[in-house]
Amino acid sequence: MTACIHTTCPYCGVGCGVKVDSQGVPGGDAGHPANLGALCVKGMALGESQSLPNRLLYPRVNGEQVDWPGAVDHIARRFGELVERHGPGAIAFYGSGQMLTEDYYVANKLMKGFIGSANIDTNSRLCMSSAVAAHQHAFGEDAVPASYEDIDQAELVVIVGANTAWTHPVLFRRLEAAKAANPHQQWVVIDPRATATAQQADLHLAITPGSDLVLFNGLARHILDSNRLDRHFVERHVAGFDELQRQLSASEYRPETVAEATGLSIARLERFYQLFLDHPKTLTLFCMGINQSLQGTLNAGAIINCHLLTGRIGKPGAAPFSLTGQPNAMGGREVGGLANQLAAHMDFAPANRDKVARFWNTDRLAQAPGHKAMDMIAAIERGEIKALWVMGTNPAVSLPDSDRARRALASCELLIVSDISPNTDTAKLAQVLLPAAGWGEKDGTVTNSARIISRQRPFKPAPGAARPDWWALCQVARAMGFEQAFAFESAADIFREHAALTGFENGGERLFDISALSTLSNAEFDAMTPRSWPLSGKEGGPARLFADGRFSTPDGKARLRSAQPSAAVEPAGLLLNTGRLRDQWHTMSRTGHVARLMAAATEPQAQLHPDTLAALGLERAELIKLHNEQGRTLVRPVADPGMAPGQVFVPMHWSEEFSAGGRINDLVEARGCALSGQPAFKQNRVQATPVELQWQASWIATEAPARLPAWWSRRPLAQGECWSLADLDTSAAEARAALTAEGSWLDWPLPQGRLLVNLEQGKIAGLLLLGLSPWHINPEPLATLLGTALQPSLLLGQLSQALAGNSRLVCSCWSLSEEQIRRAIAQNEITELPRLQQLLKCGTRCGSCVPELKQLIAVCQPRLQEEKI
Ligand code: SF4
Repeated sequence: MTACIHTTCPYCGVGCGVKVDSQGVPGGDAGHPANLGALCVKGMALGESQSLPNRLLYPRVNGEQVDWPGAVDHIARRFGELVERHGPGAIAFYGSGQMLTEDYYVANKLMKGFIGSANIDTNSRLCMSSAVAAHQHAFGEDAVPASYEDIDQAELVVIVGANTAWTHPVLFRRLEAAKAANPHQQWVVIDPRATATAQQADLHLAITPGSDLVLFNGLARHILDSNRLDRHFVERHVAGFDELQRQLSASEYRPETVAEATGLSIARLERFYQLFLDHPKTLTLFCMGINQSLQGTLNAGAIINCHLLTGRIGKPGAAPFSLTGQPNAMGGREVGGLANQLAAHMDFAPANRDKVARFWNTDRLAQAPGHKAMDMIAAIERGEIKALWVMGTNPAVSLPDSDRARRALASCELLIVSDISPNTDTAKLAQVLLPAAGWGEKDGTVTNSARIISRQRPFKPAPGAARPDWWALCQVARAMGFEQAFAFESAADIFREHAALTGFENGGERLFDISALSTLSNAEFDAMTPRSWPLSGKEGGPARLFADGRFSTPDGKARLRSAQPSAAVEPAGLLLNTGRLRDQWHTMSRTGHVARLMAAATEPQAQLHPDTLAALGLERAELIKLHNEQGRTLVRPVADPGMAPGQVFVPMHWSEEFSAGGRINDLVEARGCALSGQPAFKQNRVQATPVELQWQASWIATEAPARLPAWWSRRPLAQGECWSLADLDTSAAEARAALTAEGSWLDWPLPQGRLLVNLEQGKIAGLLLLGLSPWHINPEPLATLLGTALQPSLLLGQLSQALAGNSRLVCSCWSLSEEQIRRAIAQNEITELPRLQQLLKCGTRCGSCVPELKQLIAVCQPRLQEEKI
């Protein structure tokens, strides 16, 4: 490698530019408009995440390694047989916002255009399909109106259902910078939890989960009652006003009524409404908390309504802004990778079908929308879908009612999984495994939350027989007889065709038109710099949409959506909320092996308010059982005063690859927004009960213990791994006998348990701390002894460090734990972040921990908190 390679981070929809130096070391790309050089902790760890253990290197069919022609022939033959016997609907495809646009384009063309099945959906369905449906209704097209520049210009930033500080950290850095530059900028955070984001807000509204629609309908009513309607804008550019006005009856949306429904005080509610009225430059960022709801589309629509009523769209600093979770969720939307879309922002209307069929030169085009993600599982259960190709995602963990999804996937006649790892829960169920090229090996484009199309470029060869996903799809398509339509030789070939389709007979009705790029040469594609659509010539166009008040509807007017909240009858129990951790990605299949990313949250946890823990008698529980009619899981309870009483938050990342507990989507009902098909991950009920552990232990080694008990979780260390073990049924004596059945062991009695050291040829192969709570041990000092000759004094020294306590990692870049930071704050009487940063350097590199550092300062200095209140 000779020069720097400019590429894009593969983890989230912020879409940060990454510059890989001549040594292959990734860093922030100062020239990329999304991040201007910044990276969060996940982006900073891209170098470490490249060394995935047990990479899938060769195709496998029914457990046997085969070559690509063998795998391709098998898939093409089985697809052909199934289509002949059962019709095209027997085939389905489930993709991912990790796929590059070129992969997505080919998958969509093969499924909808040539196999003739619209059963192609993606994990983006789980993430932002409610926002897509709301955009399509309101704007006539799935088009995000805002740009990141609006963050700098906004006077009021409303963040709804998004813990941006953790899930879009670099965007949050930009928000912090905007507020620092303009201290008058106000932040309102609407979230049931006092998250790291909410704690930085000027006003935090901890609403009752599911009451977003009431809140924003109430705001719309308040806009009307306060006579703050932008009448000129509405008359010229908006349809549906009379209906909305009729629906929002003044009596139903009185402040007292809205306050009761949302769980807010009238004072806080009125303060929010007044802030909204007072600041024309309002930017409303929304994400999963809005989308993953039974009324997700209506929630997003209600936010858009408020912006349309006040004309706050298409203007600097003023827009509703849906944040995408994944790096290329947007690219998937652009090619039509959702089951209810056809291609290039066109739906299944007859005129669009005709257009796309002529463009693709096919007479096999799917004629109607296919099954969305949750429906696919039901269709597999009914025997309608016989074959499913999963690409770059892990639905056995991430779908709601995931135990049921797992059974359905296992029952498929043909389950094909394309991935970089054979170890994901879904890959383990597959009959056909295809080795995919990973980040740093793939070539193509992605589109971020703000419509910026960026290149992902390879900077190293793919190992073994790993190949790009588009290549695998084209091979299968050609083997099925569609040689001409899939004669692509490169990502550039595909991009040109995709770009051409966006402009094909467009006539200006679709804003998404990048056809000017359809003539890029290979060299121009290689050199393509980030640009947002709509384009200006071949370059990026105006950053924000709808500045002229013209929308993509037939009459050019935006549509208001009138909707009333449905009265949900909820069973009793804790309200379960699921979400993401700062340092992890999805089901951890690409981040779980990185020690410093795992160190901030080392086992499946459930966060509950201390009062809730006390009320349920769980204060002393080491593990609790969360359960409902869907299923059960064991997690470690953690007291969090930022939780509302009666609610429980569990991260969605944990899979069977990393733990026997914490697969929280087993407890999530397979129901969701009727308009978008997006699952309601944040509106479920569970019971929490303590479990009585018979024993617990930590196993530190490079290999798994001889026997895994009912509950375990594992995490990588700087050297080796640590397994936390616990059991409900067997005794400690039985556990000891089972775990030390083979090999040579030394036994040290400890005050509360024992240390057992496994020796192989005089060297330490494993350490078992039996009888001690694994959560209170820091395994790293002991792990440094792995592979070394036994020296009792050194062992005891490391042991005392391990037993001194385990404190979660807060600053991953400088390896600083919460305990170390708290101590520094207390000892040095630190009241301001810069002083803490000067002292410890924490938060000075990627900055992802800055919100938590501010929190810790505030917690350690109650005086400060009082002043803030
Ligand atoms: S915010 Fe972090 S995870 Fe998201 S794109 Fe940027 S560096 Fe990657």
